[in-house]
Amino acid sequence: MKNLVFLGPPGAGKGTQAARISARLGLPHISTGNILRAAIKEGTPIGLKAKSYMDAGNLVPDEVVIGIVKDRIAKDDCANGYILDGFPRTLPQAEALAQITQITMAVNIAVEDELLVKRLSGRRVCPACGLTTHVNSYSGANCPTCGAALIQRADDNEATIRNRLSVYNKQTQPLIDFYQQRGILETVDGYQDIDLVTDAIVRAIEA
Ligand code: ADP
Ligand code: ZN
Repeated sequence: MKNLVFLGPPGAGKGTQAARISARLGLPHISTGNILRAAIKEGTPIGLKAKSYMDAGNLVPDEVVIGIVKDRIAKDDCANGYILDGFPRTLPQAEALAQITQITMAVNIAVEDELLVKRLSGRRVCPACGLTTHVNSYSGANCPTCGAALIQRADDNEATIRNRLSVYNKQTQPLIDFYQQRGILETVDGYQDIDLVTDAIVRAIEA
């Protein structure tokens, strides 16, 4: 069983790498950010509750995301493991997760703050297939994979990005120690080429 947690600041490439590792290892990719954005789009009670926090770059309350993850990892497709992307993000979330399941490995994708601001402010995402692109490497208006119109996420503006990084440093960074103390932390250099990051993660998982 491979119950994996992907840690790292916003813009480190967690979502991109989680999607790639999910495809390579056949494990479901569970992104709390994507689940919350879908809930907002559908106008569900959870979406209505989450929207103001997310637009400001703040964290959605623990009990909301813990409930989402608890339900999701109980599904059949998670029987052989899963990849959690963007959860846990606080110590209470990590403690709640430890109560309901056993995490096999926490993969920490490390990148410096200034590069993160550049990556996030030029980021474009495909709402149809989830592909992430950057204005410096792709200038088209439509997704190169599926053709849907690319969008800029509401929280990918500079002020909100800076707040997300500060929230990360205060609330999520302590989880690195949390998993290190449990002997299951693997840190990967997220500054490398995207394929090399994927290879490094696969090596860590298969070691
Ligand atoms: P990024 O890692 O680029 O910030 P995500 O899509 O993972 O993007 O998260 C976007 C937003 O969704 C966060 O800023 C936060 O408001 C909310 N969110 C996602 N996961 C969690 C979580 N585990 N706890 C609280 N809020 C969350
Ligand atoms: Zn697409």
